[in-house]
Amino acid sequence: MPSDESLDPEDWAQFRRVAHAALDDCIDYLARVRERAVWQPPPAEALALMQSPLPAAPAALEQVLDDVRWAVLPYATGNTHPRFFGWVHGAGTPLGVVAEMLAATMNSNCGGREHAAIHVERQVIDWARTLFGFPAGSSGVLTVGTSMATVIALAAARAHRLGERGRLEGNAGSRRLVGYCSAEAHVAITKAFELLGLGSAHLRAIPVDAHFTVSTEALERSIRDDRASGLEPFLLVGTAGTVNTGSFDDLAGLARVAAREGLWYHVDGAFGAAAILAPALAPLLRGLERADSVAFDFHKWLHVPYDAGCILVRDEALHRATFASATPYLQRQDRGTAGGAPWFTDYTLDLSRGFRALKVWFTIKEHGTRRLGEAVEKNVRQAARLAQLIEGRDRFELLAPVELNIVCFRYKASGRSGPALDAFNEELAVALQESGVAVTSLTTLGGNRALRVNITNHRTRDEDLTLLLDTLERLAAELGG
Ligand SMILES: *Cc1c(COP(=O)(O)O)cnc(C)c1O
Repeated sequence: MPSDESLDPEDWAQFRRVAHAALDDCIDYLARVRERAVWQPPPAEALALMQSPLPAAPAALEQVLDDVRWAVLPYATGNTHPRFFGWVHGAGTPLGVVAEMLAATMNSNCGGREHAAIHVERQVIDWARTLFGFPAGSSGVLTVGTSMATVIALAAARAHRLGERGRLEGNAGSRRLVGYCSAEAHVAITKAFELLGLGSAHLRAIPVDAHFTVSTEALERSIRDDRASGLEPFLLVGTAGTVNTGSFDDLAGLARVAAREGLWYHVDGAFGAAAILAPALAPLLRGLERADSVAFDFHKWLHVPYDAGCILVRDEALHRATFASATPYLQRQDRGTAGGAPWFTDYTLDLSRGFRALKVWFTIKEHGTRRLGEAVEKNVRQAARLAQLIEGRDRFELLAPVELNIVCFRYKASGRSGPALDAFNEELAVALQESGVAVTSLTTLGGNRALRVNITNHRTRDEDLTLLLDTLERLAAELGG
């Protein structure tokens, strides 16, 4: 490449035309999302394109964009669609597209240094602190999601227990740390135990009650038993919004147990923590403000485009001591580009980090906490309504109480029970997904396979719920149920 050439376009006017057309595509895509199939698998031609060999030669920009248009864009997960009810997915916002574009323009590395993106992320963390009642001086950092936020929290919890030695020597030695969570807790906690070398055999899954919340008596018994066998309890995880049923552990009760037992108290509020924005739901989160750390996602119920999670840690100095390192090539200065200490890399594993904060900042500024809270409240109302509709139809049966925004139920296919009924409902969920009308996921509750509807979608209307049930009934009849 000659020195006066670069990877920038040779013809900026042409680039501008193509880029404007791409933005129009994005806007059309979101404005017409309701008219499309919720989900469809990529066809063979699209897959063939995505399996073509590594290109050595450059291609025309129009060609590349056109490939995205026909082979990639139509085959998304589907979660921008108002009838995507699977798993726990956020729906995104059109402004998020603009934020991503601006962030890519700046191409900031938010591992550290002195620049505007760092100040935006600091403000986002400060807003999160305000929302959850964490004190000034507590720390936080944006992450890929709650899974990584959990790793950070548990690393801090381990550092709290083992001190500097934990960093130098790992978990080896005579101390056997154990942690506690609900049997309904997310697998992200198990994975973090494994990754950090704590071992998932040292994570106790405490049984839940009829509302799928952790039993305090069983928890206290388990802690007692572990101490009696020479183990060292160090961590208690409460869940604010379980993934199966949207249940909330008694966060204040767990805070008391953690304080009495000297445990690090972590709260997993991946999606449920967003309920703090809705005045009618905020009491569910009482006790969260006493946690040592809280993990939650902006990309789920707060609709920031993927990916954007967050960890808050009450003890900033401990958080920094868990991750900060002194290396000559990352030495900080009082002034200049290498200023701005502490750096975000001092609170996380990543050094190079994108400007995730901009899309979070945009979303919160555009809608304000009140409107975001209203969207949460609407979904909770819709879940209650769906439960009512289900109870009003003979062939459906609720399989769990509706605690928040998640409805688990099944279709009672005639003449089927046990494994045959489970298989029928699995087939029904797949048929629904393949119909393009709606997407639900599946889970197992009390040994029964359940259709699982999660509503974390600001685009969902009440009429979508009726259409969901009508379509399930039609497909079930076609399947011979
Ligand atoms: C989604 C979820 C997680 C994992 O979060 P990611 O952002 O997907 O990594 C953890 N806990 C709960 C309760 C969740 O719903």
